[in-house]
Amino acid sequence: MIISIASGKGGTGKTTVATNLAQVLGNRVQLLDCDVEEPNAHLFLQPTFTQSEPVTTPIPLIDETKCTFCRKCADFCEFNALAVVGKQVLVFAELCHSCGGCMLVCPEGAITETSRELGTLNVGNAGEVAFVNGRLRVGEAMSPPLIKRVRAAADPDRITLIDAPPGTSCPVIAAMHETDFVLLVTEPTPFGLHDLKLAVEAVKLLGIPAGLVVNRADIGDNAVFQYAEEEELPLLLTIPFDRQIAEAYSRGRMMVDALPEWRHQFIELFAKIEQIVKVNKEAACVN
Ligand code: SF4
Ligand code: SF4
Repeated sequence: MIISIASGKGGTGKTTVATNLAQVLGNRVQLLDCDVEEPNAHLFLQPTFTQSEPVTTPIPLIDETKCTFCRKCADFCEFNALAVVGKQVLVFAELCHSCGGCMLVCPEGAITETSRELGTLNVGNAGEVAFVNGRLRVGEAMSPPLIKRVRAAADPDRITLIDAPPGTSCPVIAAMHETDFVLLVTEPTPFGLHDLKLAVEAVKLLGIPAGLVVNRADIGDNAVFQYAEEEELPLLLTIPFDRQIAEAYSRGRMMVDALPEWRHQFIELFAKIEQIVKVNKEAACVN
């Protein structure tokens, strides 16, 4: 089973939920930190990394001795990653989506591939929890290929928890794509509600069942809860705005370790998700 933990905006407690859930599931689970621009699940789970490797993406390399400067490659590239200026073909590597199309359209065979480093893939263990994260190079914008590499490192024999990037753009879709369940984390504020609505729309488009965790549930107003009811988005857990939880967080400790009474809450959270996924799969089989 693959569960993606996501939020419409950062700072809602998404990583808190992902790491605590991982901790209570122990050796049954792996946590993939796909928030590659700002991975921080490792700060809580404190993994030991046993493998670390650079992740690259292919980009075009122009052989100007073969090039006739016909511009076919630049006209083809919908990302404006190529430009022909006089007797020179400019490659804007940061804009290249590595589709390989320019190589195919070049009539002179003047384009081959080179590679560009996007970031690092790290694999290890945090106690019994298998742990993988990706770390995007500073200033790099092309995160989906790195997210795909983090996901490809998953062990199919374990439950997979994905700590997705915040927001609703391409990196989030790369993290939520082909998962069995999306656990949305929000807080009951107008900003929280606004971004939750965007996240719910994205999840609907992907056709993945979802549930909600409301963090700092006793601040703000009732609008998030009303919206969840209207959308039939099951409310699976509420976490209060609590001094002891905040203190544990500020020390980099997980709730389920610092406050063991929370263990059963997270175990129950997983049981509810398992049940929803099961019912959803049975319904899909009937249809
Ligand atoms: S398509 Fe090939 S030959 Fe034409 S400008 Fe691009 S690299 Fe040069
Ligand atoms: S590989 Fe694709 S995205 Fe990159 S420069 Fe060529 S056509 Fe553009």
